[in-house]
Amino acid sequence: MGDFAPELNDEQRTVRDWIHGFAADVMRPAAAEWDEREEFPWPVVREAARIGLYSLDFYAQQFFDPTGLGVPLTLEELFWGDAGLGLAIAGTGLAAISVFTNGTDEQIGTWVPQMYGDANDVKIAAFCSSEPDAGSDVSAMRTRARYDEAKDEWVLNGTKTWATNGGIADVHVVVAVVDPELGARGHASFVVPPGTPGLAQGQKFKKHGIRASHTAEVVLQDVRVPGHCLLGGKERLDERLGRARERARGGAERGANAAMATFEASRPAVGAQAVGIARAAYEVALDYAKTRVQFGRPIIDNQGVAFQLADMRTRIDAARLLVWRASWMAGAGKPFTSAEGSMSKLFAGETAKAVTAQAMQILGGNGYTREYPVERMHRDAAIYTIFEGTSEIQRLVIARALSGMPIR
Ligand SMILES: Cc1cc2nc3c(=O)[nH]c(=O)nc-3n(C[C@H](O)[C@H](O)[C@H](O)COP(=O)(O)OP(=O)(O)OC[C@H]3O[C@@H](n4cnc5c(N)ncnc54)[C@H](O)[C@@H]3O)c2cc1C
Repeated sequence: MGDFAPELNDEQRTVRDWIHGFAADVMRPAAAEWDEREEFPWPVVREAARIGLYSLDFYAQQFFDPTGLGVPLTLEELFWGDAGLGLAIAGTGLAAISVFTNGTDEQIGTWVPQMYGDANDVKIAAFCSSEPDAGSDVSAMRTRARYDEAKDEWVLNGTKTWATNGGIADVHVVVAVVDPELGARGHASFVVPPGTPGLAQGQKFKKHGIRASHTAEVVLQDVRVPGHCLLGGKERLDERLGRARERARGGAERGANAAMATFEASRPAVGAQAVGIARAAYEVALDYAKTRVQFGRPIIDNQGVAFQLADMRTRIDAARLLVWRASWMAGAGKPFTSAEGSMSKLFAGETAKAVTAQAMQILGGNGYTREYPVERMHRDAAIYTIFEGTSEIQRLVIARALSGMPIR
């Protein structure tokens, strides 16, 4: 592992250009239609699978890129294409990361291929942590997992909400409480295999943006999964719970858990998505400002417009550097001692929201219509200060990491 060098090698450039081609030729022309239809865009995901872009092989290749930049490069280009379609393609990745971070080698080998399927039989996966009363406060989770020792099965009961691909996924990963006494440390993640009775989709949400991505409640009623579906295995869980009980007795702070490990690993990736949206809107605004004439000159001739574009581009580049730093650290196995993953997600998310709003302003009346893509980009960007930990929660995580204090 080398030092952090924000310069791409030949292979990375080739991959980036290949994804860019798909984003420009397949995603961009389809974006408005799927935004209006507000349905999961199977034909686009199947096309991505056909060319090998939506596949376990490609995902694993990017995930294990030793520079750490494979995933952010891929996601920035896809989300430059379109965020709703991008999330339809990338949504499975969150469930896959949860298996990579919490599962045994055997579980990774069994479940991750089933999350993607193959080009002839495309599959998708969902990661279900959030609940109606447990959003930012993961410790308020109520979904229970009880172990039926006689049958070596876990029985899941509860209601999950906001699950990307929830209910339409082939494989669901569900975070549930195994020991309510331990708060967030008493949680574990379970794979619910395809077709398991008792798991059903609840309400499907109608959203402000990323409307091609499916978001729904997932209801679990006496869902029985085999013992081997507990990610990490029973032995590891019992050890972890034993340590947590010791700490609880000693009054130590409650810390990370299964869901948090997933979110920590995925934050820079989510930041990269936000960078892609921001860059797309900035490019539209730059082109428009050069060609739109008012008062006898292109509007970019006014500092009031040109300086906005200068700020937009500066923020986007800064966001990308934070994302790449965090991704490089994760790839190099360096711990986020100053919550660098959260920093990247916070800054990139806020950048996407601000830059897409500025882009709309630069396009004037046109920016406000669906004839131009920036209003969609602005709606899409708004989720980036909310999901995977709101901006407030990222600030909390960063402030706690910096101060060592239990800031509330
Ligand atoms: C489109 C979409 C897709 C999603 N996909 C998934 C998914 O695939 N899987 C999944 O598990 N979840 C998913 N989520 C859930 C998402 O992660 C949550 O919505 C998010 O964590 C916020 O939780 P909440 O909505 O309950 O808001 P709340 O936690 O109720 O927060 C409401 C407001 O209060 C603020 N707040 C809360 N606590 C504090 C505090 N201590 N200090 C300061 N401010 C605070 C928040 O920042 C926010 O502004 C998705 C959500 C959406 C909308």
